[in-house]
Amino acid sequence: MRAAIIAVGSEMLTPSRVDTNSLFLTEKLNLLGVELSQKMVVGDHREELVASIRYCLDHVQLLLITGGLGPTEDDLTREAVGLATGREVRFDDQVCAALEARFASMGRKMAEINKRQAYVLEGAEVLPNPRGTAPGQWLELEGGKIIVVLPGPPGEMKPMAEAEFFPRLEKILPPLALSTVTLRLTGMGESDLDALIAPIYKQYENPVTTILAKTGDLTVHLRAQTTSQTEADRLTSELSAKIEALLGIRIYSRDGSPLESAVLRLLESKGQTVAVAESLTAGLVGSRFGSVPGASRCFVGGFITYNAQQKSSLLGVDTDVLAQHGEVSEPVALQMASGACSRSGSDWALSFTGFAGPDGGTEENPVGTVFIGVAGPNQFLKAHRFRYPAGDRDRVRAFAVQSGLNLLRLALHEPKEVNNA
Ligand code: ATP
Repeated sequence: MRAAIIAVGSEMLTPSRVDTNSLFLTEKLNLLGVELSQKMVVGDHREELVASIRYCLDHVQLLLITGGLGPTEDDLTREAVGLATGREVRFDDQVCAALEARFASMGRKMAEINKRQAYVLEGAEVLPNPRGTAPGQWLELEGGKIIVVLPGPPGEMKPMAEAEFFPRLEKILPPLALSTVTLRLTGMGESDLDALIAPIYKQYENPVTTILAKTGDLTVHLRAQTTSQTEADRLTSELSAKIEALLGIRIYSRDGSPLESAVLRLLESKGQTVAVAESLTAGLVGSRFGSVPGASRCFVGGFITYNAQQKSSLLGVDTDVLAQHGEVSEPVALQMASGACSRSGSDWALSFTGFAGPDGGTEENPVGTVFIGVAGPNQFLKAHRFRYPAGDRDRVRAFAVQSGLNLLRLALHEPKEVNNA
């Protein structure tokens, strides 16, 4: 089954509101095997709404509309569905009585204007709204198409969808088995990833493959749907194995968990600990480790050493080295990392120093240059120079965090695994 969602409300077209209802509905629909093929945000405008409803009905079997069910003149959803489908919108005494009872239970008399919410589309089933006044509606059209109208406020829409809409939908859908695999990886760009794995995943219509990218972090989702669970699992395992063989060590998680969890898991498996020495990232890396439950088993703490004096006094970076090479340099990154290890007593340390911009930088190391140091057991000490696109300070810092965590992850792997990647 293919579906469309229309989010109604002119406020949804302003910069201050986001249509989150459709994200919630889409996630649940996908789990039931229903794919979304259209999604729209339409203002409180009768003709545009009617045209959008007609357009969606021409293309999908299931149309969900959220919002526009309030009692005011600009709440047009009921009327627009009526106009688009040729159904009358009729006053419903029972719905009106329920509305009056709701107001009475709060010690209030219902305003005349709220009677607008007691209109029901001809042939529709009323979906009760225990959290608000506007009831939802489930309307089956000739030919089997379905329109479902839900309130706009998420606090009303979600419980109604859970209690009334999804159970009705499940009853009419064929039984479906779903299997998903989520691979997370880093260390390559989105287009390089796609170029590498597209020749494989394009051979499969089922599972469906989606790639998501965010500042150096990539997620590959595989989703198979069939009538048998064994077959759905077999399909995702088969495709996943082929993709994993190509990506090798770049994959850091197969259960959707983030990079910092993968690093901490590796440390824990070796019974080792890590500390951080952060200049331009100023706590971002420590915060990532701290977000993982149980991080204290391997994460000992860190140093935010934003200026040269702190780098010397807290981490023991040599003032001559600072003067000779500058704060953003490989020797400083190396000394920050080894200083963090020795001063915290950790087995490993990651250090970050760089030019996040927008100002600063040198000819040799312009804005966007970051040195990341890794210190570890058996005199392991390495620094890497990265050049990220300049212009967005937060992006440079976010990329640096991602690269640093990945460097430590790779250092924690056996060398032969890394070389084979
Ligand atoms: P009401 O009785 O409150 O008027 P309604 O069903 O008419 O209910 P709207 O007036 O369209 O709903 O929206 C009310 C509020 O609900 C909006 O201002 C917004 O904050 C929230 N809302 C509406 N639609 C969405 C949406 N698609 N995603 C997230 N929030 C929404």
